[in-house]
Amino acid sequence: MPSTRRQFLATSSIAIGATAPGLCASDAPNPTRPLIVSTWPFGKASNDEALRVLTKGGSILDAVEHGIKVTESDTKNRSVGISGSPNAAGVVQQDACIMHGPGHQAGSVAAIEGIIHPISAARRVMEKTPHVMLVGDGARMFAIEEGLNSIDVDSSKLHEAWRKERASKKQAVQKRSKGDHDTIALLVLGPDGNIAGGCSTSGWGGKLPGRVGDSPIIGSGLYIDNEVGAAGATGLGENVMRHCASFMVVDFMRQGLHPQEACLRAIHRISRIDPLATEDLAINFVALDKKGRYGAAGTGTGFKYSVTTKSSSVVLQSPGVTSKDIGPEGGNRK
Ligand code: ASP
Repeated sequence: MPSTRRQFLATSSIAIGATAPGLCASDAPNPTRPLIVSTWPFGKASNDEALRVLTKGGSILDAVEHGIKVTESDTKNRSVGISGSPNAAGVVQQDACIMHGPGHQAGSVAAIEGIIHPISAARRVMEKTPHVMLVGDGARMFAIEEGLNSIDVDSSKLHEAWRKERASKKQAVQKRSKGDHDTIALLVLGPDGNIAGGCSTSGWGGKLPGRVGDSPIIGSGLYIDNEVGAAGATGLGENVMRHCASFMVVDFMRQGLHPQEACLRAIHRISRIDPLATEDLAINFVALDKKGRYGAAGTGTGFKYSVTTKSSSVVLQSPGVTSKDIGPEGGNRK
């Protein structure tokens, strides 16, 4: 039995702080629609809002946008939204994207400053421009022209002060993330079987100004194939981007894997070919498929994710993958 399969069978998800009849990361006997899956415990409030939108007859894109807006609006959240982690110059630069399965549409914004809801900006890029991605000042200008809520930011002064300080101290570029980052990636399987998803983050705290993570990159932080399913990522974006990891997870589902097995298989594959030790990759995935099945997996001890249906909304623990699971032949160097 391949180790991913073994791992999958040995470590199915465990509901945390909630009983969830009928909810586990194993096969769902019937399509569970709507189904909403997101990263981290903070995703639960977003899932609940997404379900509320769908119940009132809103579209899957409305569910994704309004769901993610809940987390973006949470002023206690230090990794998503305007209250998220600032970059090295003290400026919050956010990344977000959205995808609509029907028509395979996508929109994203990167390194955007002072916009309260980057997910709404990403949706407007998708729906109102011929482009997929806008970055920096252009993205901010576009969002303001679209009438989205913004705050004044004079980041040029902060960035200039940081540049001078850096030059005078010959300050080294921060080599490693201090771990102060997370992303909301939220996936929706709608009542009609169509799929949408989005993600939003302020990214790696203390990042170089202008750094863009995986979250706004289609195929890295998020990917949807409306014939198959969807996947989203959280963790060290650099290690997700180098492997087009969400695309990889969806592609494994296309080959027939259960969403949880696809997440595990992606981590195994990345771990085998990446020079970093599995635990140092710090990557985590959520996924759902067209059949109403879902799952997640992360490096190390795994991570917590949120799953919501009409009958239940819970936080689950994903299985984790460590260097030991990869094996010596995997070429995984510590
Ligand atoms: N993936 C995000 C980034 O690298 C951060 C996270 O999800 O932890 O920007």
